[in-house]
Amino acid sequence: MDLTGTEEAPAYPSLGRFAKLETPRIVTTSWDDGDRADLRLAEMLRARGIDGTFYIPIAPYAPRPLVGPADLKILSSGGFEIGAHSVTHKPLWGLSAEELASEVSPCKPMLEDIIGKEVRMFCYARGRYDSNVIRTLKEAGYRGARTVRMLATRLEFDPFEMPTSVQIAPNRKYNYIKNVARARKPEGVQVFLRHITRLDNWLELGKRLFDSVLETGGMWHLYGHSHEIEKLGLWRDLGEVLDYVGNRKGVRYMPNCELLQFLPQQGRQAGNGKL
Ligand SMILES: [Zn+2]
Repeated sequence: MDLTGTEEAPAYPSLGRFAKLETPRIVTTSWDDGDRADLRLAEMLRARGIDGTFYIPIAPYAPRPLVGPADLKILSSGGFEIGAHSVTHKPLWGLSAEELASEVSPCKPMLEDIIGKEVRMFCYARGRYDSNVIRTLKEAGYRGARTVRMLATRLEFDPFEMPTSVQIAPNRKYNYIKNVARARKPEGVQVFLRHITRLDNWLELGKRLFDSVLETGGMWHLYGHSHEIEKLGLWRDLGEVLDYVGNRKGVRYMPNCELLQFLPQQGRQAGNGKL
């Protein structure tokens, strides 16, 4: 419709074509444990227009400076997602129903009270979970949960088994073998074999996985711990990989929860994984 009577070209001439053909290229990041260095990390993400989710345990469990309620409000109002990371950061696999509920249920309303927004995502402490954990998360009202599975770029996973692509940490080949073996996903084996020569270099691996997402679509999910980045002196490398993936045309930047809307609607079965 032309209300002006002029013959100007439509503002989005190719939208219809892209809507049909485009496989989304998505960048997301997630950061665990709620250390104070998350604030520095958030600044680096913000400077490059990259979104992220910060997974926050409720009770202090490590002798490190942690973010407080005022910090969480700042992160949340700055556009970052706040996710739950259990109450005490206890691995949840094998806990009784009562213990499980006490670890995953209270943290959601507690965080929501602080930030004034719904907390939709959960992250498994030390990546450990089973079908009982997933059931308890669903009962508590979460929409999804992130695992520590790596080497994934496809938008094909159960919402409660969200994988990652790469961790900012000096993982060795052996770590990836364990990770792929636990996940038991064909994608993990394929990506492992394709990138076998660069597994000892997370930065190089991260860039090449991003290249493959640019090429064929999918998600690029970087995760890590700001206390580890601080301890290992990885801030410069983090800046390099964020520069590489940030501000790219045609790439959508979003926190973890928004990824769920891109998943196929069918075949969502709660898994029984151990990651
Ligand atoms: Zn953790």
